[in-house]
Amino acid sequence: MSKPAIEGGTPVRDKKLYYGHQFLDEADYKAVEDVLKSDYLTCGPKIGELEDKLCKLTGAKHAVVCSNGTAALHIAAMAAGLGEGDELITTPITFAASANCALYVGARPVFADIDPQTYNIDPEAIKAKITDKTKAIVAVDYTGQACDWDRISAIAKEHGITTIEDAAHSIGTLYNGRPVGTLADMTTFSFHPVKTVTGGEGGAVLTDRDDLYQKLLLYRSHGITRDLSLMENESDGPWYYEQVELGYNYRITDIQAGLIISQLDKLDMFKARRKELVAKYDEAFSEIDGVIVQKEIDKSDTCRHLYILRLDLKKLKTGRREFFDAMGAEGICCNVHYIPVYYFPHYKKLGYERGLCPNAEALYEEILSLPLYYGLSDDEQADVIEAVKKLVEYYHV
Ligand SMILES: *Cc1c(COP(=O)(O)O)cnc(C)c1O
Repeated sequence: MSKPAIEGGTPVRDKKLYYGHQFLDEADYKAVEDVLKSDYLTCGPKIGELEDKLCKLTGAKHAVVCSNGTAALHIAAMAAGLGEGDELITTPITFAASANCALYVGARPVFADIDPQTYNIDPEAIKAKITDKTKAIVAVDYTGQACDWDRISAIAKEHGITTIEDAAHSIGTLYNGRPVGTLADMTTFSFHPVKTVTGGEGGAVLTDRDDLYQKLLLYRSHGITRDLSLMENESDGPWYYEQVELGYNYRITDIQAGLIISQLDKLDMFKARRKELVAKYDEAFSEIDGVIVQKEIDKSDTCRHLYILRLDLKKLKTGRREFFDAMGAEGICCNVHYIPVYYFPHYKKLGYERGLCPNAEALYEEILSLPLYYGLSDDEQADVIEAVKKLVEYYHV
């Protein structure tokens, strides 16, 4: 145990708590075992079963499952027809993959600033960044809260831009009562273990559009097809297939798909508990002077993936770094989501400079992610709240 931040103080916890953790039960173990004992480890029946389940869950017409959320964004960018000379607008407050998908296809990510209260991409900022090169928007439902899709869709429609919803955080969220998965032209999920539902690794793209669906299927698997209507030549025989475009091996295994199917059966339960934990945090922190609670729009019924504690640094005699370390010393291992994407050296090399998105940069200085996951107990959460209260009181001006 490291020493408590406060001189003479006692840490709130002996055993460390982390910001996220997967939850697996006997049904999950059984689901994986069943696949291991079956005839197919990959390209088997679990793939279609998972895709059907995602369609049923969201109301989307098509789902294409793939190896991870990053692959999902890559094939979505390809299906949107994004390429050399094109621009893709996204938020800087996200995991790098939301912007990297533009770079993969030779296009340029353009960063639009966030709304200072919801922390989601600001539709007005999107509007201001549109040029005649803008081909796609990747809007991220940050922490799980749906973006303002009514406004984003209207802007995209007016300019003929394809919308991609990076829903890595927001599986289970509703917007105006509609499930995430049908709000944009394409929606991508991630099934990484820190996300609400996991397969170890895994991803998916959902769409209502038949043309995009055909492309996503091709790009997931080498650009190879067995569909005669997509082939250039006559079939040579039953073994025949053609590679008609350049795609990748972004397939997911049946082992992972089996696990995700089983995890999805628990999504309502996961959502209910996450909502309960978020409500408890919000209630506790809205009473503390020195911290700011993320604004939730009425339209979003959120299955929250991350809980963001924002420090009101004008009221505290400390910075985020010191507060973060002090939380660690209290036994709470936080994290920070996210470093603005264009701060990274790779983006600097490409000519991006600090100062692009002031709201995002200000947010980054003040945030830390607190423990939020299905298995977090009431007592553990109470410890987190106690640690925050203790430190805010200590550091208050
Ligand atoms: C996790 C995440 C991704 C990438 O998903 P992987 O499955 O890890 O590739 C993309 N975007 C956001 C916002 C994420 O949080």
